[in-house]
Amino acid sequence: MSVAFAERARKVVCIGRNYVDHIKELSNVRPTAPFFFLKPPSSILLPGNGPILIPKGVNVHFEVELAFILGKEVKDFKVAGRDKAEVEKEYLDAIDGYALAIDLTGRNVQDEIKKKGLPWTTAKGFDTFLPLSTFIPKSKIPNPADVTLWLSVNNQSPPNQKDSTKLMIWPIPEILSAISSVMTLQPGDIVLTGTPKGVGSIKPGDHVSGGIEVDGVAIPEAKIELDVADKGGIYEFKN
Ligand code: MG
Repeated sequence: MSVAFAERARKVVCIGRNYVDHIKELSNVRPTAPFFFLKPPSSILLPGNGPILIPKGVNVHFEVELAFILGKEVKDFKVAGRDKAEVEKEYLDAIDGYALAIDLTGRNVQDEIKKKGLPWTTAKGFDTFLPLSTFIPKSKIPNPADVTLWLSVNNQSPPNQKDSTKLMIWPIPEILSAISSVMTLQPGDIVLTGTPKGVGSIKPGDHVSGGIEVDGVAIPEAKIELDVADKGGIYEFKN
């Protein structure tokens, strides 16, 4: 299993609110430009290292997302005013590979943080809050702008989330441009591209599955299977 990629990540950058129907389901405002936040690499949960851990008092939401891994340094990636084919070639060239990711979020923690205007770090950064699949070679996803992501809790059918990356408001070139205009992306860094509709809660005892399909065919490397358990520890969320 190829999981060494996750140890090379010096940062994990996540795009928020990149699918219209997900913005609506949380009654969020549609941003006028891509915005992003960081998750600590310590929150990464690799296959075989489960379960997902639920901190005390926290309403943990799943968000299935396509992640890409940088193979090159990217700084000031320009999209506007450039030849489209040139942009396509350059952005695909900067990507080393992909992974399925779950951007776990302490929703009640985040709601409280939003009200107070504080950073999202706690809501997004608990240990195990970033399950990743194994590394997906670039050749398996020739067009990241057209793959289907899905996530199911307790084998629910149809899955809780299942949508195409075609629905992204800002496709990967725009994401790369927004992030790299602020911070240099380094080889090994991981970028999460936002979640489609259907997010919801998980609790101890649940089982989470997820995957990626290309033209209706499952990519074996993308499979995620995880149990969910209590975290224990000293943290407790109190409103
Ligand atoms: Mg997310």
